[in-house]
Amino acid sequence: MSTRSSRLQGFYQLPPLQRREQLALWAELDEDDLAALEGGLSLDAADTLIENAVGLYALPFAIAPNFIIDGRELLLPMVVEEPSVVAAMANAARLARSGGGFSTGSTESVMIGQVQLLDVPDPALAAERILERKAELLAQIESLHPTIRRLGGGPRDLQVRHLDDTPAGSMLIVHLLFDARDAMGANAVNTAAEALAPALETLSGGRALLRILSNLSDQRRAWASCRIPASAFTTDAFTGSEIARGIEAATAFATADPYRAATHNKGIFNGIDAVALATGQDWRALEAGGHAYAARDGQYRSLSEWRLEGDDLVGWLELPLAAGVVGGLTRIHPTARLALKILGHPDARLLSQILAAAGLAQNLAALRALAAEGIQAGHMALHARRSVQQHATQSEHKVK
Ligand code: NAD
Repeated sequence: MSTRSSRLQGFYQLPPLQRREQLALWAELDEDDLAALEGGLSLDAADTLIENAVGLYALPFAIAPNFIIDGRELLLPMVVEEPSVVAAMANAARLARSGGGFSTGSTESVMIGQVQLLDVPDPALAAERILERKAELLAQIESLHPTIRRLGGGPRDLQVRHLDDTPAGSMLIVHLLFDARDAMGANAVNTAAEALAPALETLSGGRALLRILSNLSDQRRAWASCRIPASAFTTDAFTGSEIARGIEAATAFATADPYRAATHNKGIFNGIDAVALATGQDWRALEAGGHAYAARDGQYRSLSEWRLEGDDLVGWLELPLAAGVVGGLTRIHPTARLALKILGHPDARLLSQILAAAGLAQNLAALRALAAEGIQAGHMALHARRSVQQHATQSEHKVK
């Protein structure tokens, strides 16, 4: 795969079926794979997925070329209905190539399961007791998920938080940290949290109510960065550093202002969701985690950072990304399986890193366009002011 270049020049100019042929050659797709591009899911499969299914709902499946992620040439599968998102992604990936592409990383696949304990008589004592018995409690649920355990995952840690002043009074919250390996892990974590609850009730003297995963999976993060020479942004109308400075100032706006941050982060999710949908991810879970993380210091802010370092524009995006490549839709949907094949069958961590790169690429494309428009408007205003001045001077001359 590394010998193939993802720089597919002119791909966008081909008719869809020729693009498909080029993709088939590039990703070594067979007849069955290609059949999955005709919709994929059967009505019978849909009926096993959700309740009351009566049909199927199709969306466009596209390819964003030009990506290099950690030295790997990649074509990114995208499912999205919004015009310009795929083109923006391809353009941003091409820009990032000029700096070597994206570098990415991730934590282990550690999810959080929450157990809510009510009516705890002495929360401080209960917390102490639970933490004292941590090893024993974790051991109790160790064998619940043999496959995940065999793969080196399973329960990792317990944390206790006291919410002393909620509208329903004081409550003790126990976090179960659980490594779900290649699964998104919702089912595994929920089962583990449920299994843990009776022992927590006994130790705390309280009553367990909710036992469910948190979508703010901040122990399971992925990040992506890129370093692009500012000169790569040069156009006929603008210098590269004008655009790069515009991108930096636009990000500062989104860091300081939630109204801007919401749109800035929506742009990031244009990229993440499209790849997430193509690969069969629970995109609501990814959205919930990302937006909650964006507000982690009490104010909702930009998820990404862009700054000029010397002559380079450097971008960074980090967020919770609970991606899975086993279970859920990835087990059932032929097109999702095909998307994972196009990506070279990544494990869950690598997929989360690809999603982070997709988010950063889409963010770059949006900021570049906005910055250029703003600079363009600034130039026009300056031009208009100059013309008015010139006109005034000429008129003065005439009067004189
Ligand atoms: P799952 O239960 O379908 O699959 C996970 C199972 O796959 C594991 O328990 C394990 O037995 C097996 N497995 C095989 N190979 C594995 C590997 N390499 N690594 C890990 N496990 C492996 O899926 P899940 O990931 O537990 O749950 C995901 C589903 O739960 C999604 O469809 C999601 O929409 C849904 N869900 C989400 C929420 C939420 O986000 N709040 C809540 C409930 C359900």
